[in-house]
Amino acid sequence: MRAHAKLFLASSNAGKLAEYRMLAAACAPSVVIDLALLPGFDVLPAFEENAPTFAENAAGKALHYSQHRDGLVFADDSGLVVPALGGAPGVHSARYAGLQATNSQRIEKLLDEMRGKTGLERAAYFVCAIALAERGRAMAIVTGRVDGEILEAPRGSGGFGYDPLFYFPALEKTFAELPAEEKNQRSHRGKAVRKLLAALSSML
Ligand code: IMP
Repeated sequence: MRAHAKLFLASSNAGKLAEYRMLAAACAPSVVIDLALLPGFDVLPAFEENAPTFAENAAGKALHYSQHRDGLVFADDSGLVVPALGGAPGVHSARYAGLQATNSQRIEKLLDEMRGKTGLERAAYFVCAIALAERGRAMAIVTGRVDGEILEAPRGSGGFGYDPLFYFPALEKTFAELPAEEKNQRSHRGKAVRKLLAALSSML
């Protein structure tokens, strides 16, 4: 018989919840997980996500919110890392072009910064860190990474964020040119979710 677990996502973002449900469903793991948004997330004291690493932000968030609610709480942090830009946009991926900037402005900024960079300097990777906590105690911290290259112009209309610039050589496509199922199989987030479920199944 498969073990069951209920996990609360420390977020008020229904789109993110839907994405995690899809990722978890695709894993067919030995544990069945029921995912929900953390009740009352918006009225809880906010966690300032300003640590220098993805893992620290995810862990800080999960620990913080799990102190306020019973049950298993998970939180994530993700972004794009370009070593030739000293790791930028990194943990600042969402606000790379300023807090109010649009996605196209973030893409434009990245293209500007990459101008003149060639070959290996265009290497980049996405990272996703997910932390699981219960009543202020860390239960698991996992990360997933996928390597690719930054194109000189966007390609594709799927995905979100930096996907149109992120070229995945193994499939000769950007993440924005892949069907969601295929991106999920290869992505940093898909990898992190599979690790999280493996960690959970060894706990239950
Ligand atoms: P957060 O983890 O929700 O804070 O996301 C951070 C930011 O990283 C997003 O707003 C995107 O700009 C970028 N990002 C994270 N994952 C992806 C991805 O799978 N594709 C494209 N951009 C991503």
